[in-house]
This record gives sequence, C-alpha cells and structure tokens, in this order.
Amino acid sequence: MDSAPPPPRSLHDLPLAEIAAELAAAGITPHHSKALWRALQREGELDLHSRAFEPPLQRWVEEHVGEGKAFFLDAPPEVSETHSSDGLTRKFLLKQRDGQTTETVLMGYDGRHTACVSTQAGCAMGCVFCATGQMGFVRHLRPGEIVAQVLHARRVLEATMPGRRLRNLVLMGMGEPLHNYDSVIRALEIISSVRGIGIGPSRISISTVGVVPGILRLAKEGQPYRLAVSLHGSNEEERSALVPASKKWSLAELIAACREYGAITGKRIFFEWTLIAGKNDSPETAHRLAALLKGIDGHVNLIPLNPTQGFAGTAAGEAAGFEFQRILLDAGFPCTFRQRRGIDVAAGCGQLKAEKIKRAS
Ligand code: SF4
Repeated sequence: MDSAPPPPRSLHDLPLAEIAAELAAAGITPHHSKALWRALQREGELDLHSRAFEPPLQRWVEEHVGEGKAFFLDAPPEVSETHSSDGLTRKFLLKQRDGQTTETVLMGYDGRHTACVSTQAGCAMGCVFCATGQMGFVRHLRPGEIVAQVLHARRVLEATMPGRRLRNLVLMGMGEPLHNYDSVIRALEIISSVRGIGIGPSRISISTVGVVPGILRLAKEGQPYRLAVSLHGSNEEERSALVPASKKWSLAELIAACREYGAITGKRIFFEWTLIAGKNDSPETAHRLAALLKGIDGHVNLIPLNPTQGFAGTAAGEAAGFEFQRILLDAGFPCTFRQRRGIDVAAGCGQLKAEKIKRAS
C-alpha cells in the first residue's frame, strides 16, 4: 500500500544546510542552494516562480514549491496595521496559514530600527497585566513563522524608510520564547546568518518570564543571544500575584538560574520590570529588588505598563518611577526607562489582537 506523502514544509523553516540537503537529494549542487537562500532570506522574495534562477534550480522550484507541493513559503498577509502618531512604531497583525493571527512590531527610535516578534499564538504564562496572557495558549509558532515576521518588518522598513537597516530584534511579542525553545533557536540561527537577514546575535534579545530550564539550557549551549528576564515582583508573593508561572518556577529558583547563567556565560542579564501603579512601584520594592539582584551583572529596564484591563502604568516623569530608578542606580545597577512606545497603537504585547477580538464580539 502506498504511504501518504509527507505534509508540506515551509522553506523558511530550513537553515541553509538543510536547503542544500534537499537540493542535493534532487541531484542539484550546493551553488544553487545559496542562490535559493539568498532569494528567500536576504532579498525576502515572496514569489520564487518569478525569479530567473539557473535552469536546474528553476525546475526544482517549479516542481517542489507551491500549493499542493512539497514546500511552501511563509508569507503571512497583514490583517491590519496601525502606527503611532509620530510614525515611529508600526504594529502588524499577521495571519498565519491556519488562520491564527500574531503580532509583529517595528520600532524606530534614535536611528535604531528594531523588530519585536511573536513566538507563539497566545501564551500559556497568564501574566495578569498582559492581553496575550489573558487570551490563553493556542500553539507554538514554527521557525519559519518567526523568520517571516522579521522579513515582513524589514520589507515595511525598506518601503517606508529607504536606506534604513533593520539591526535589532527582540522576542517580546506574543508568547514565551523559552516555552518554544527549539523553534526559537532554529529561527534565530536563520535570522542571524550573515548570508541571510544578518541581524548579529548580540543585537537579538530573548525575553523570558522566567522559564528556568530554558535559561539554563541557553547558558549550557552557549547561545550567543542576549537574555532579558521579566521579573515584575521582588518577593514570591508580589511576583506570583502578577506572574502565575512563578508558581512553577519560584523567584528563588529563577534568581539562582540567573546567577548560574551569569557564571557560565559571563554575560550581563537585562531585567525587565513593568511598573504598575500601586502594585510594584514602591521604594520598599525597589530596595528589595536591589538586594535580590546583588552580585548579578544586571541592567534593569523599567517599562511603564501600557494601560490594559484594570491596571495603570507608572512613568519616568512620575515621582514613584523616578524614585524607583534612583534607588536602583544608587545600589549600582544600570537602570533605564524604556519609552512608552506606541501607546497610541496598543503596542503592549497582545493588545492589538485583543482590540480586534473586542471589536468583533
Ligand atoms: S507577558 Fe509575555 S509571558 Fe506573560 S502572558 Fe504576556 S506574552 Fe506570555
């Protein structure tokens, strides 16, 4: 009995070596795999059939790529795009092949252009201040679905600000990157390849809410990316009220993992702290945080919360935020405020999708 053909795969899921292996299986030389990779990853081509490849590769594309064939491209269409009034933040809701929608943000501040991408549809971590957390988990994104978001952001940047390069990437959109570890690492290998999109590993930040096994795995594997850890609470009680995942990995375990990460990699850790008025912005909390992080090479990023469902943010200009920052600086931690970017485009994670769902219901 004939077995069913394997399900189609995305060419964007594959690193160069695997594309070369696919072509080699069809008797095509590595030289052609570089041309295919360049078209896909460096040039962001969405229609391989329109390209004048050399005949062997052109034939392979005709036979193997397209609906009903062995391979497809990840080219999610935009469901919507919004941009901030200053035009520096653009947020896209992209539709994946199964109809799931995910968010991608393009930010351009101080001459630096940064893409913020999603790693899951929904999120299982359930942070109470987060619109995505309130939606629940749907599924992991494949590597190609992560790569395609970066390609989309780059395409928009090139179209709207010719000559500008996308240099930075943060994994801070929908989802917990370390809950989707293998796909994320594979996507980052593709994205950081100098032959492809070419965003250097030191310009890529993985942001986690505290998935301890993932943090230790990053360290043990020597992954070259930056690590950002969302803390939000300075003791178990404060943190677990905001981050339910901390019931699984306690604050004590998380800080121990951060110490181990620092010892193994020698790298600085970025601690993200979403300031929520009346919840975690007091001077006592700041002093506890400084004591907690003592001895870690850490940089604290204070993020005023985008207002969402019952919580208000605390900004740098407000006395509580200023005092919080001063206490950490006095304790010797570099501590900066992240601008409240794109507040008018609902650029907190999951907020655009949440808005869309609200309007549809
Ligand atoms: S803040 Fe991040 S980890 Fe927490 S629920 Fe939202 S997407 Fe998930």
